[in-house]
Amino acid sequence: MNTSPFLHTISKELPLIHQLCSLTETNWFNPAIKTTSEGLRHVGLTKEHIDEAEQRMIRFAPFFRAVYPETRGSHGIIESPLRRIPHMQQHLQQNTGIKIPGTLLIKLDSELPISGSIKARGGIYEVLVYAEQLALTNGLLPHSSDYEIFTTTEFKGFFSQYSIVVGSTGNLGLSIGIISRALGFNAIIHMSTDARQWKKDMLRAIGAHVIEHSADYSQAVQAGREKAANTNFCHFVDDENSTNLFLGYAVAARRLKKQLMEAGITVDSHHPLFVYLPCGVGGGPGGVSFGLKTEFGDNVHCIFVEPTHSPSMFLGVYTGLHDQICVQDIGLDNRTIADGLACGRPSGFVGQAMQYLIDGYTTVSDSNLQTLLKQLYAKEGIFIEPSSTAGFKGMLHTIKNQDYLNRIGMSAEKISNATHIVWATGGSMVPEKEKALYLHAS
Ligand SMILES: *Cc1c(COP(=O)(O)O)cnc(C)c1O
Repeated sequence: MNTSPFLHTISKELPLIHQLCSLTETNWFNPAIKTTSEGLRHVGLTKEHIDEAEQRMIRFAPFFRAVYPETRGSHGIIESPLRRIPHMQQHLQQNTGIKIPGTLLIKLDSELPISGSIKARGGIYEVLVYAEQLALTNGLLPHSSDYEIFTTTEFKGFFSQYSIVVGSTGNLGLSIGIISRALGFNAIIHMSTDARQWKKDMLRAIGAHVIEHSADYSQAVQAGREKAANTNFCHFVDDENSTNLFLGYAVAARRLKKQLMEAGITVDSHHPLFVYLPCGVGGGPGGVSFGLKTEFGDNVHCIFVEPTHSPSMFLGVYTGLHDQICVQDIGLDNRTIADGLACGRPSGFVGQAMQYLIDGYTTVSDSNLQTLLKQLYAKEGIFIEPSSTAGFKGMLHTIKNQDYLNRIGMSAEKISNATHIVWATGGSMVPEKEKALYLHAS
């Protein structure tokens, strides 16, 4: 273990640092959480901002319907299914000896149209904001235009003067690259060393410019930021700070509310909802949680899950240092099979904005991610990528933690009415060959 003076000092006051350093699975349920109405005041964004994002997506629905036939069933809205997974629930109970009270569901953002990951929410949304703003300020979008106009060669020609730049571990790059090219933008994608080869190949095939870095995610983002600052006609998608990405993710919650209602599932003070979200830099799970809190208030409990090698949001909130600390500072390597979560430094704003609204932070080992991936496929026939399975372990950590459950007033009776949603964040774009490797790896 790293024995720097810094580490020595912080780990004296914060005992879980030792556990994080030893790469054992760790959980921390923040005792400083506040009620939803108090916590939301710290976010700096409101429900009205989510309304705006939702409306913008509705305006673009005709564009999506025209360009992506797979969105026609949902009338041009990019959304994913919510599914019950009783066989997985039963299997996990038998396998771990932990009783899972209530109902287990999976939210399949792994099957989101267009880019097959949660990044099809925030990533696509941010590019839409930029495209709409350019079109408006250049007088291309008279009032009440039908946004199918974004499919025309005039629009594409206009956008080809502009570039979108992003730094990514893979999925954000994929999502931004795909939508940018579809609208006619140049796409410049800075990929970290974690990015899978097939994601880079796919992007190059659609005409995106992929720049490969031998360094990790934070440095790929920094390279993108610098490049964009020196380029005209250019927009940098800042995964570490963007509120538009965050709002794009947040819209998920109101759609989920409708799906729960359609499934006959109640969420109220006697029927709590627990949501387990894989966390990388924090924008995805943070944005979704923001939305969930505005919809379900104190009846929803959000728990973040990170790889043992990359617990950046855990570390940032637990130490109160947020983006002033990274996992390398405590001697961790940020190397994990969960490529979508390999972010060593947390977002500059999500941890601070959301800290009073996130109940807990947990970690999961790579070998458990791998096992869960296989179990889910065997029991439910659902394939998701390694990052995406993290939520299952977050759930097991949570329902085992009686101190936390007592603190939030979760009686045995109340938790027997609970709904648990494991948020699956990516997977449907993984090529068959890669899937087979994941499913057969030992
Ligand atoms: C990006 C990503 C996440 C987490 O989102 P962040 O905004 O990085 O926290 C989770 N799972 C997958 C598969 C991802 O690609």
